[in-house]
Amino acid sequence: MLDADYIKRHIRTVPDWPEPGVQFRDITPLLSNPRTLRVLIDLFVHRYMDSRLDLVAGIDARGFILGAIVAYELNLGFVPIRKKGKLPFTTVAEEYELEYGNATVELHSDACKPGDRVLLIDDLIATGGTMMAGARLIERLGATVVEGAAIVDLPELGGSRRLRESGLALHCLVQFDGV
Ligand code: AMP
Repeated sequence: MLDADYIKRHIRTVPDWPEPGVQFRDITPLLSNPRTLRVLIDLFVHRYMDSRLDLVAGIDARGFILGAIVAYELNLGFVPIRKKGKLPFTTVAEEYELEYGNATVELHSDACKPGDRVLLIDDLIATGGTMMAGARLIERLGATVVEGAAIVDLPELGGSRRLRESGLALHCLVQFDGV
């Protein structure tokens, strides 16, 4: 069936990568297969086609792939939320905590404007820190995150719960148990 289970069956789990204990949920098989790529994009397009969005923001780096295709299909523009130091123009920045240390994401200060309705896309929600930082960047520019969207949620890490508790609407296609 062409639904979330179909998507889930095509995600590859790579144990102990990039470090022991991590089960890496690899979406590259979804992207390389023309049938799964089409269903994947269509699941997002179907959900958002009547949402009166102004643009799509994607998070570095797999969120760029998904976000740009979804934006194109929705007849919208796309803006990248990048890791620190990559964007050439003036930026707003948000630092967030990783398991070890911190990370920073940035957005061009003219990427969106007050009142814009933005769809925020990444591939996966683990602790939720990346998506939370991305949402803050958009909101600091006065725009509204209509929904955060991802292919995969890892609910045991608590990120999706934290994001929803912060008031962000969140939509994930599939869940995986464990970390
Ligand atoms: P987090 O900020 O903890 O929610 O982590 C989400 C970001 O890290 C996403 O951009 C994912 O691409 C990446 N990520 C974290 N954990 C995994 C995992 N188990 N498999 C694949 N990607 C992951």
